[in-house]
Amino acid sequence: MEQSAAPMACPDCHALTDDLDAHERWHTRLVRDIAVAVTQHEAARGSRTG
Ligand SMILES: [Zn+2]
Repeated sequence: MEQSAAPMACPDCHALTDDLDAHERWHTRLVRDIAVAVTQHEAARGSRTG
């Protein structure tokens, strides 16, 4: 009895996915994309430290 085809729940967003590895890669890419967007946004406004 093997259940290798059972969907796994993502520990981050609790989404059911067959390929958790690919899902995590999507997470990494999403987080990186947001980080880049925030960095560019802050750079555009100018580094105002306060
Ligand atoms: Zn997820």
